[in-house]
Amino acid sequence: MKRKEFLQKGIASGALLGSAVFVPGLSSGDGDQKKIHKGKNRQDLPDSKMLKTMGDPEEIVIERPVPGKPHKGKVLLAIQPHSDDITLYAAGTVAKLMDEGYTGYLLRTSDDSSGNYEGNRKDNAAIAKFFGMEKAYDFMYKHHQMDAIQIQDLKARLIFLIRLLKVDTIISYDPWEHYEENPDHIATAHAVEAARWMAGMRTDYPEHLDAGLSPHTPREVYYYSRAPQRTNRIVDITNYMDKKVESNMLNITKGPAGVGKGTKLKERLAKEGKTLDILGDDDSKTDFNYIKNVVFDIEAKDPNFYSISTRELGEQYGLGWAERFHYIGPSENRLEKYIQENAKAK
Ligand SMILES: [Zn+2]
Repeated sequence: MKRKEFLQKGIASGALLGSAVFVPGLSSGDGDQKKIHKGKNRQDLPDSKMLKTMGDPEEIVIERPVPGKPHKGKVLLAIQPHSDDITLYAAGTVAKLMDEGYTGYLLRTSDDSSGNYEGNRKDNAAIAKFFGMEKAYDFMYKHHQMDAIQIQDLKARLIFLIRLLKVDTIISYDPWEHYEENPDHIATAHAVEAARWMAGMRTDYPEHLDAGLSPHTPREVYYYSRAPQRTNRIVDITNYMDKKVESNMLNITKGPAGVGKGTKLKERLAKEGKTLDILGDDDSKTDFNYIKNVVFDIEAKDPNFYSISTRELGEQYGLGWAERFHYIGPSENRLEKYIQENAKAK
């Protein structure tokens, strides 16, 4: 049976729901997560082997909530050109990873602004605080004009930050997503991917080493995009969906994802003598309910925002709500594994 047929039939029959990974050829999701986070020999790998694209494009791992703090001691850098990118595309995953023990930082690369620079900076700081992060950074490149900047400048700043914070995991825009209209998204994505690789090479920016920094390569990346060319990881954010909504409501200056629209819709319907259950009875929760049920579900397929409903994406995989990524993780040290399995005592 072809893989696509297998997926469709497996999902339709429900036989695969609940399994951590439902595509043959990969280890189980739990096992995979353990493998990713507990590999012992990765520090010894040369930089070029630290990151390797996993599997073929149709293989998908479902990342589920993990109890306890399995990521304690690890550093997460969530990168967004604008204050609403992480909140729209990856807030459930950021909330999950932070809850699972990461130390986090939020970086905004643009100044986000058509005038209220301070308002946008405060919103970015509030979002970082909401996620329980240590700090929000703001690189302040000119809004919607990041294709005019010298990429070396942005790369150098990113490499410095990756080395300084000793970043283990990056969440950022996918540099290989084709259907992207926003130049800030494109410029940021390409600089991040190059910096992620170069930060581990001692021959790049060697003066950093004189200043006490060390070469350092983040070993995991979660790349988000509007219409991904490749999705190989689905993150179950069911437990974190409300936090995703709340984080979007903190984008006050930019115009959060629909705050105010829920109340307006409720008022309009009242004049027409109608109500909608999804907006709820509690007026203080109307905007929250609107964002959750309209922005991330009913109207989520607006091509300028997201190409699939967050709820429908979850539903496809037997989950409540989900986010999707092009994930790149550490490759297995196959030589060491081979030695363990085959070496003989002399
Ligand atoms: Zn953006």
